Amino acid sequence: MSDAQPKKSFERYPHVGLAIDPIHVGTGGARLGRVDNTIVRDPATKLPKIPGSSLAGVLRTYVAMAEESERDQSKRAGPYYPNCAGQGQRRPDGSGGHCGRPDCRVCTVFGFARGNDSAGGFAGLASFSDMHLLLFPVATREGPVWVTSPGALRLAGIDQGIDGAIKDENRVYRKNGTGKSLNLGWLLLEVDTLTVNLDASLAKVPKYIRNRVALVSDKLFSHVVNSNLEVRTSVAIDASTGAAEEGALFTYEALPRSSVLCWDVICKYPGHFQTADGPIGAVASPDDVHNVVMKGHPYLAALGIGGMGTRGMGRLRVL
Ligand SMILES: [Zn+2]
Repeated sequence: MSDAQPKKSFERYPHVGLAIDPIHVGTGGARLGRVDNTIVRDPATKLPKIPGSSLAGVLRTYVAMAEESERDQSKRAGPYYPNCAGQGQRRPDGSGGHCGRPDCRVCTVFGFARGNDSAGGFAGLASFSDMHLLLFPVATREGPVWVTSPGALRLAGIDQGIDGAIKDENRVYRKNGTGKSLNLGWLLLEVDTLTVNLDASLAKVPKYIRNRVALVSDKLFSHVVNSNLEVRTSVAIDASTGAAEEGALFTYEALPRSSVLCWDVICKYPGHFQTADGPIGAVASPDDVHNVVMKGHPYLAALGIGGMGTRGMGRLRVL
């Protein structure tokens, strides 16, 4: 019998983030209804979300940038950025691509591809859930209100007192608002008092948002969100002339600025894994893995996630 503590095979790290800009993570040019560029939606709830794969992709790039800025050239000749960022395919001459070294924090945490087949690749020690809407800002005649629902709260791990908080599916529940009515966009709803105290559960969320939370049913939440998304119109520019292309006006959807999103990062215990080149030396614990992931967070707040980055979109502050 060994007296060493058994190592947990993974840890879950919940995160909350605030959109500093509108965020557009597109479905890839599908034209649905009145909007040319729609955002990704959950098939069951119809709520917009950001796929975990999009988050993993940008964080990989940002962590590679952070590692590159700290690289000690006497210890490592090859660059982290751009080699260890991106999809990792080598150039036709065999240069570039993921380094795949067991001492590379980018490649061990985010995984790596090797060669032109997948043999010798590694899945990575961090995995990312989809980013879900937790609080959605809506303009009302009383100023902005952040709407949420029991389902949205549960995805953030908040479930205490949530069952039974909605007594009437056609009402909105707020801290102190009984007897009044509130318009959420074009919807006018009676207000009742919220019986759950969400302050502790939403402690990471700024107070000005926490104080203006409105709870609605899951069904109403989907309606309110989908009818209050930001829809922008833009024009495609002809690269050769620098002028607007004829007939190139297009619209796109985005999550509005000050939307609050939640997601989980699952970090595996490095000692349970091996790369083709031996045991992992870059990180020793789930906390180490998570610390590597967090190196990308300041870049998310500066460079953002999703499309239309050049149109002032996508920045997200992790709270
Ligand atoms: Zn690498």
